Amino acid sequence: MDTSALVLFSGGQDSTVCLAWALSRFDRVETVGFDYGQRHRAELAARPVILRGLREMFPAWASRLGDDHLLPLDTLKAIGGSALTDDVAIAMGESGLPTTFVPGRNVMFLTAAAALGYRRGIADLVGGMCETDFSGYPDCRDETVQATAKALSLGLARPIPIHTPLMWIDKAATWRLAEELGGEKLVQLIVAETVTCYQGDPTRHNWGSGCGVCPSCELRAAGYERYRAT
Ligand code: ZN
Repeated sequence: MDTSALVLFSGGQDSTVCLAWALSRFDRVETVGFDYGQRHRAELAARPVILRGLREMFPAWASRLGDDHLLPLDTLKAIGGSALTDDVAIAMGESGLPTTFVPGRNVMFLTAAAALGYRRGIADLVGGMCETDFSGYPDCRDETVQATAKALSLGLARPIPIHTPLMWIDKAATWRLAEELGGEKLVQLIVAETVTCYQGDPTRHNWGSGCGVCPSCELRAAGYERYRAT
């Protein structure tokens, strides 16, 4: 029987590595992205470019890569209050979390993805959540993700496995995983086309494009440096 997976694909580095991971394991892979009113649109704009790049560079993956879906989740924008959805400075908030935290985001994303998968005949979800060198977002923790998988399995009355290949590896190991999956050409596609900067800054660096100073750029740049140094 054919295996299938739905990848939560934002257009960032982590979700692109997760997509490559899924394409190397499942017979049919579809992708879903969410328009939640994020202030910069660079990430969403990168999605079709990365999908086209994967199809062109990896013929074996092209035959497995199916439909891409973009779902609106403007509830998160309507709730607001985050530096990713509103004109709020990126800083450490009173809760001990950065102001880039969007409450409930990953739980909503996984719920919407599971519902879409239900309609598409796909149970397995793949997401780039990671609690190794992350920003402390509680909805990136393995316990949150696996509890969500349990709730969704009950709510949809079928097993909903959620795969998080990056959960226990750091950013340097994420670059290494990209190289293992698709060689240097996948690493270069990720450098050139994926967007992780909180500001959506297009300034180019050897590790990709970004402002270079936001927490997301700092993580990405430091991980790339460690990856190239080993
Ligand atoms: Zn940045």
